[in-house]
Amino acid sequence: MLQQNVFLFFLLINVTNLVAQDHTAKYSVYKGNDLGLTYTPKQSTFKIWSPTAVAARINFYKTDLGGVSDRTVQMEKAANGVWTITIPQNVKDQYYTFQVLLNNSWSAEIIDPYAKACGTNGFRAQVVDLKETNPIGWDQDQSPNFSAKNHQTDAVIYELHIRDASIHANSGIKNKGKFSGLTELGTKNSSGSSTGLSHLKELGVTHIHLLPFYDYNSVDETKPNQYNWGYDPVNYNIPEGSYSSNPADGKQRIKELKELVKTMHSNGLRIIMDVVYNHTALTANSNFNILAPDYYYRKRADGTFSDASACGNETASDKAMFQKFMLESVLYWVKEYHIDGFRFDLMGIHDIETMNLIADTLRKIKPSIVLYGEGWTAGGSPLPDAKRALKANASLLNGIAVFSDDMRDGIKGSVFNIDDRGFATGKIENTESVKFGIVAAGKHPQINYAKVNYSKAPYTSTPASLINYADCHDNNILWDKIALSYKEASETDRIKMHQLAYAIVLTSQGTPFLTAGSEFLRTKFGVENSFDKGDSINAINWNLKTKNLATNQYIQSLIKIRRAHPAFRMTSANQIANHLVFQNNLPEGIIAYTLNGAAVGDKWKKIWVGFNGAQTPKTLTLPAGNWKAASISHMSSIEGNQIKLDGSSAVIFYQ
Ligand code: CA
Repeated sequence: MLQQNVFLFFLLINVTNLVAQDHTAKYSVYKGNDLGLTYTPKQSTFKIWSPTAVAARINFYKTDLGGVSDRTVQMEKAANGVWTITIPQNVKDQYYTFQVLLNNSWSAEIIDPYAKACGTNGFRAQVVDLKETNPIGWDQDQSPNFSAKNHQTDAVIYELHIRDASIHANSGIKNKGKFSGLTELGTKNSSGSSTGLSHLKELGVTHIHLLPFYDYNSVDETKPNQYNWGYDPVNYNIPEGSYSSNPADGKQRIKELKELVKTMHSNGLRIIMDVVYNHTALTANSNFNILAPDYYYRKRADGTFSDASACGNETASDKAMFQKFMLESVLYWVKEYHIDGFRFDLMGIHDIETMNLIADTLRKIKPSIVLYGEGWTAGGSPLPDAKRALKANASLLNGIAVFSDDMRDGIKGSVFNIDDRGFATGKIENTESVKFGIVAAGKHPQINYAKVNYSKAPYTSTPASLINYADCHDNNILWDKIALSYKEASETDRIKMHQLAYAIVLTSQGTPFLTAGSEFLRTKFGVENSFDKGDSINAINWNLKTKNLATNQYIQSLIKIRRAHPAFRMTSANQIANHLVFQNNLPEGIIAYTLNGAAVGDKWKKIWVGFNGAQTPKTLTLPAGNWKAASISHMSSIEGNQIKLDGSSAVIFYQ
């Protein structure tokens, strides 16, 4: 208690210092929603927010790179920190930059944060008539149904990097590494297994979560072989140029991304956008910081940039103009690009109020929107924990789910300790952590919270608040993690462990999440963090699908069972507490539970799910009744009411 008080005391001092130094907090706020460009064929109006600028100007160019500006126009000061200029001509397709006069010198040329189109590498914005970027039939484009009542737990999310999907020589895809690569249907690897979009359809997932595709910094768009995941944003409201067939033409990347969305939609798949509002690629020289020095970022008491992202800075969603920016940005992606959901990177940096404003506003225009994020940060932040969208505060978020690291590491072992194993790799001490994930991290009478790996208390009040997963783009992919932490296991045994891990994810309450290629044992060759490691590590080798077809088909069958049976997708913590009952007095290493399907409208009246995390077969007694097998991995067998659960295996029975 004393320690807590001492801690609070220091926190107060820090916060007081921070507030005292933040002279930018009192800048007048602009409430209009027309920052950036308002285009018509007759005129274009440009507005930027730069509250301390003494003057501002816009430079027009004929080309996106090189050459000199053919016209510079001074902007006019308007109310609330806004600078504006209306050009009474059709300036369509012209490129432009802004400069502001601060401290007696003109700033570098920048794109304003609200720009919607740009040329190569995002150096110059472009005036674009967005109507010209719409593919044929765009007005009729509709997101496919994935849930009768818009329950987030009905989603099955599949995380994919656009370039990884098609760049491998054996993808059978023509437009390798591009947005358009994911619009090709009927593509196959050399053995005839479907790849790319056709594979996604066949697998049966509902949502494709695409790694960042806003304009990011780390790839030079003139160099086709460069690689990055893209967690380093430059232009939040513009698609990345390296995924376009022509980064110089601002219209082309927009059009090609819309084609991707439309094609996915017409093939039954929804698109989730990975967004990284928590930091910007540049810090002192970012467009935000040039327009409004020190305003958009949290700073430490000593005046340096705070860095909860571990990428050089952290944005301040608790400041009015960044909150406004985030809100208008996500709204724009939903309205203009028909995006179906967002994954918020390092969401723990953002404040709860902003996240709830975003969730409430988005649900008004798209009730089926899927929202989730990382409920943590990568470093300390001056904003108090109680105000931030952290995992521990998940129940305060309005339908924005958090990733369960308890489940992730419970299944396979800590991502920070290469040797550590999890329940699926035989570490039976992790049983309670996995059970905690199975009930979607909520309040359940049979969970002993003291034994859960990280969280010692429930943190969700609804299963819609939890994303369950075994792996994602970060850290070792599951197949590599198993191999690295269990070197002595045979390949046959490692396959069983991998399948068990995914069986747990796909049968648990909450929303399941897969990372691309793990359904067929994708490897990244033991590389832990492959964000800039190029195609040789990251490309999806589609021949692995044929090699590991049994695992692919097993995971596909689990997705099918999940989507057909609402008992795996309960919609309230009460349902789970009442209708998911763990079996007691089981042999070590076994998790088994019964779902009361009848109580939640499932045609399977009772469902029995059993996992054996141990590596040896275990025999146990099923609850009374006549059970039929729905899914059996490996050599498990049933005789009367006795089930022999093979080592590292999963079974589903029903009545
Ligand atoms: Ca870029």
